[in-house]
Amino acid sequence: MRDRHCRMPGCRRRAGRCDIDHAVAHADGGATACWNLCCLCRRHHRIKTFARGWRFELLADGRLLVRTPSGVSRVTRPPSWTWDPEPDPPWLEEEAPADRAAR
Ligand SMILES: [Zn+2]
Repeated sequence: MRDRHCRMPGCRRRAGRCDIDHAVAHADGGATACWNLCCLCRRHHRIKTFARGWRFELLADGRLLVRTPSGVSRVTRPPSWTWDPEPDPPWLEEEAPADRAAR
């Protein structure tokens, strides 16, 4: 409900197609609670889990801080329910084909 799409900066894969990731791993004592969960698509979930040098930190207010191995930091905020200024990037076309009955 909060995230609506993958929280990786620039990624817009819809939440229904994402993994629910524990910001602090469950194995490390991270709770399965909203304040410790965020949506990441499978690609970005794997980067967070397996790639070296990446850091993801879910802040108390829901912002996600992502640090790349080269030191670049980006923050994403949970999207607004009323207005979302970021357009979908063209490489993430996920729309289902139009319903033939609606034509
Ligand atoms: Zn993603």
